[in-house]
Amino acid sequence: MSLAVHTADLDVIGSGFVHLDYAATAPCVRAAADAVNGLLPSYGSVHRGTGPRSQTSTLEYERSRAVIADFLGCRPGDQVVFTRNTTDALNLLARSLPAGTTTVVFDGEHHANLLPWPNPVRLPAPASPEEAIAAAGQALAGLRGPVLLAVTGASNVTGEVWPVHELAEVAHAHGARIVVDAAQLAPHRPIDLREIGADYVALSGHKLYAPFGAGVLAGRADWLDAAPPYLAGGGASAAVGDTIGDVRWQTGPARHEGGTPNLLGAVSLAAVCSALAESDRGELHEREQQLLAQLRDGLGDVPGADEVSIFGPWSERVGIVAIAVPGHDPAAVATRLADDFGIGVRAGLFCAHPLVRRLTGATGNGGCEGGLLRVSFGLGTTPADIDALLAALRALLR
Ligand code: PMP
Repeated sequence: MSLAVHTADLDVIGSGFVHLDYAATAPCVRAAADAVNGLLPSYGSVHRGTGPRSQTSTLEYERSRAVIADFLGCRPGDQVVFTRNTTDALNLLARSLPAGTTTVVFDGEHHANLLPWPNPVRLPAPASPEEAIAAAGQALAGLRGPVLLAVTGASNVTGEVWPVHELAEVAHAHGARIVVDAAQLAPHRPIDLREIGADYVALSGHKLYAPFGAGVLAGRADWLDAAPPYLAGGGASAAVGDTIGDVRWQTGPARHEGGTPNLLGAVSLAAVCSALAESDRGELHEREQQLLAQLRDGLGDVPGADEVSIFGPWSERVGIVAIAVPGHDPAAVATRLADDFGIGVRAGLFCAHPLVRRLTGATGNGGCEGGLLRVSFGLGTTPADIDALLAALRALLR
């Protein structure tokens, strides 16, 4: 049995290694590669030029935006702004907040969702979804003026899925807005802004089976239309006068997409969104949970298993598992997995230093100074990949 490959569009292309580092960058799927290859012979500049190449490219770019809006369940009037990645998308939102906005974040966030925010109120990483909801409610109750709650959809360290729907309700009950960092949620779960009730969502194409260079910020238009352009320049400006400062800026996504757009990034991301939208997400979820169970059970069988910590007690999680093995440096284990077994995982603090510190401290685990070992998987992963990892760990930890 293999995860995935229910439609050829979602086949991962290329192979040769056991890649268990999807959370860093996922491999490209057929749909994305086909979309890029289809445009290579005929692309031109988007929104610039009247030639057939330019016209086709503009149409494809805007079609991609519409596909992604649909995939994310955008409401009428919502905007989809193309960015470079999630970090870029969250920075765009951070620069678009109304003056005086307070932001509320948990310490468990990836740095991309921790560092861009002005006036942050930082809450300790919660120990349970219930604690997250209660803590958010408490913090928001004391705040006045515009407020944004910034939360992850799924942790890039523990894989835990956050209760974003409930957090959106709490935010709105206190007159605040909420942005969901969906970098890790989007590859594993459907996201529907109407259903979740979130105001904004950010994601990266390279974690969603498309090549590098494209991400999106999607959500409410008003703050974005009122904000200074994120990238001042051509495309963002509607009219420029002869005196300094005499500029009329675009409204809509163009306001923040200065410069020549990344057409291939947009079409490849949209192609994956279409393929995922047509797939059986329930089946994918089921298979992912089977692989998680296989990994968890197998880790119970490695040498010193009773001392191996699997981090993250929340019941709902995506295919991301962080472990610590007392007495073993995570970086050394990861290097040997790569060099001796051709297996790619990741070791370290995963751009989530406060969280990893709390996790390792809370368990009192020795040997965690170098962070943790993270195993993450997705569409191309098979039970044989997990078996290979477990066999390698059994050999290495002996
Ligand atoms: N948020 C989360 C939860 C992530 O896992 C990552 C990437 N590791 C990011 C944000 C940043 O994504 P990118 O590097 O693509 O901007």
